[in-house]
Amino acid sequence: MEFHSPTSFAEASALAAKATGITRFLAGGTDVLVQLRSDLVTPDTLIDIKKIDGVGKITCNADGSWTLGVAVTGAEMSEHPELGRDWPGLVEAMDLIGSTQVQGRATLAGNLCNGSPAADSVPAMVAAGVTMTVTGEDGTREVAVEDIPTGPGKTSLAKGEVVSAVNIPARGDNGGDAYLRFIPRTEMDIAVVGVGVNLRLDGDTITEARVSLGAVAPTVLLVDACAEAIIGSTLDDAALDALAAAASAACNPIDDKRGTITFRTEVAGVLAKRAAKIAYARAKGEDL
Ligand SMILES: Cc1cc2nc3c(=O)[nH]c(=O)nc-3n(C[C@H](O)[C@H](O)[C@H](O)COP(=O)(O)OP(=O)(O)OC[C@H]3O[C@@H](n4cnc5c(N)ncnc54)[C@H](O)[C@@H]3O)c2cc1C
Repeated sequence: MEFHSPTSFAEASALAAKATGITRFLAGGTDVLVQLRSDLVTPDTLIDIKKIDGVGKITCNADGSWTLGVAVTGAEMSEHPELGRDWPGLVEAMDLIGSTQVQGRATLAGNLCNGSPAADSVPAMVAAGVTMTVTGEDGTREVAVEDIPTGPGKTSLAKGEVVSAVNIPARGDNGGDAYLRFIPRTEMDIAVVGVGVNLRLDGDTITEARVSLGAVAPTVLLVDACAEAIIGSTLDDAALDALAAAASAACNPIDDKRGTITFRTEVAGVLAKRAAKIAYARAKGEDL
């Protein structure tokens, strides 16, 4: 195995572009190293991205948006008070990942690029409208999170492309987000269903919404019908029922020992309602 520690994304990209066989980027390693040690995936080339300048930084930009380096860990996100004030759902989604030890290593880009349909931070990022800056041999491009996973273990990133920054929109006024997942145990398990909701209010009325579902299809889903069910409402019972119906209708889950198709479909609706209520309360300024 070849191991590289580049000091720029251009170098990381060039190394990945010319590598043959299996290439992996090493961020926190909580997927890569587990897969390596259990003989699931043995990379021919491992490219550690943690020596690149700025990868550990959390920056609030002048317009209120956030730029996170790709080695920022879940623990660092949780310990950042302003980020959690703006995007509590996103931070909580990341905080659900693994144990304290895993939290000290796991990253948003790693969670996304591992390609699990059940990745916890991904529905929250999609709901929040997060984009990734991607660096390749031809320069950089900005890609919406929902356009990166293409199936279990697969992404739309081309050979030689590396995620070089995480871009989180400005929170703006009267907005709130939430992420909830169902797991069979209290922690250290994989989501059977995950739901991210992000919305904005004008008075009591929802004017913008993004609703995303995880673990109920081969990739995370951004469900426009869910957003349409609640936009224009005050999240009354009729809107909540319509939201739940739209969430359940969007599901195309697998049937396995951790959740049947019927169960996952039902739970998606239940969690969508609960997450929407939390996001709504947060948008009203309640400290949940
Ligand atoms: C005990 C345990 C519990 C876990 N619990 C959960 C859980 O509850 N929920 C959950 O969602 N996940 C869970 N995970 C999985 C894992 O912790 C997360 O997916 C984590 O976010 C991966 O991030 P990482 O930085 O460690 O990625 P790494 O392992 O470093 O990389 C993962 C993948 O992403 C790619 N990659 C990393 N960075 C980049 C980049 N900048 N550009 C392009 N590709 C990149 C790598 O090539 C690799 O394919 C758990 C893992 C363990 C070991």
